[in-house]
Amino acid sequence: MSFKQLQKIPSVQEILSEMPISANCTAVKKSRDKEIISALTGKSDKFILIIGPCSAHDETAVLDYISRLAKLNDKVKEKLVLVPRIYTNKPRTTGVGYKGMAHQPDPQKEPNIVEGLRAIRSMHIRSLCETGLSAADEMLYPENYPYLADLLSYVAIGARSVENQAHRLTVSGLDIPVGAKNPTSGDIEVMLNAIQAAQVGHVFLYNRYEVSTGGNLLTHAVLRGAVNHYGQNIPNYHYEDLTMCAEKYQKRGLVNPAIVVDTNHSNSNKRYKEQSRIALEIMQSRKHSAALHSIVRGLMIESFIAEGTQKTDENIYGKSITDPCLGWDDSEKLILQLAEQA
Ligand code: PEP
Ligand code: MN
Repeated sequence: MSFKQLQKIPSVQEILSEMPISANCTAVKKSRDKEIISALTGKSDKFILIIGPCSAHDETAVLDYISRLAKLNDKVKEKLVLVPRIYTNKPRTTGVGYKGMAHQPDPQKEPNIVEGLRAIRSMHIRSLCETGLSAADEMLYPENYPYLADLLSYVAIGARSVENQAHRLTVSGLDIPVGAKNPTSGDIEVMLNAIQAAQVGHVFLYNRYEVSTGGNLLTHAVLRGAVNHYGQNIPNYHYEDLTMCAEKYQKRGLVNPAIVVDTNHSNSNKRYKEQSRIALEIMQSRKHSAALHSIVRGLMIESFIAEGTQKTDENIYGKSITDPCLGWDDSEKLILQLAEQA
């Protein structure tokens, strides 16, 4: 083994007592959970927008972005539930290099996971407590979830993790909405298997304990497009794709069937500007079919302050260092349009 023990990771208890949240913030998170769950399960008619940068690499820019969302929220909150994407574990597609703030609090410096855990908790606390918008994060490393469990209102399981047993089992113990993405192959059955597995309880090994879970009935589908054998992107947001997915989903008899559509990644072929057109097409499909209207409950959009993407050392404020994002002006316009269509 070439493992070297670099430093001991503080326990969840240690980090939580070092960085607690106020009773007021806990109350905000609880009421946001309720609002998001109502929108996901169809108890309310509100439409969910999970929106923000591909990766949250800079706390100042992320807080600036989410403060803009919070202001806009006043105009759209009767129609939309805005859930900021604060993705703190986002690696590069090849797996080499930057691995997200949890590993590298400063993208230009060496990894430091102890400082990374503090940095991601600090950013999520500030976002929740300063803007009132509890956020979404992606679960790359299931064992790290307890460090943020009191802050997150939504968790995504990525296309490359959705077939993984540890992810499926961990999700079965969460009590917030979890979006399971279709795998990069595009196989809808794999995604439905993940949802089915997470909706029931399990006994398994988690963070050095044998644990049991109750099943998470808020686990649902996220369509992100696929990649074929030649590396070409194949979208799955069109009317026929949504209908096919809805039919397969209904056949499984799963609880709270819901689809969120990711407008970037293989759906846009990473042509990030297309996200606006794609989002509006999905709203049109919802209008055309009552079945789609009821099952398509939200969108996932990659958006930041400056549009596009940059290399890590370019240091452009509010610009993604991973996938290309819509800029703020286009995002604001799109959010207002979606509020009208929802
Ligand atoms: C993402 O949400 O930024 C992402 C890379 O997702 P996926 O797992 O669908 O590739
Ligand atoms: Mn991305």
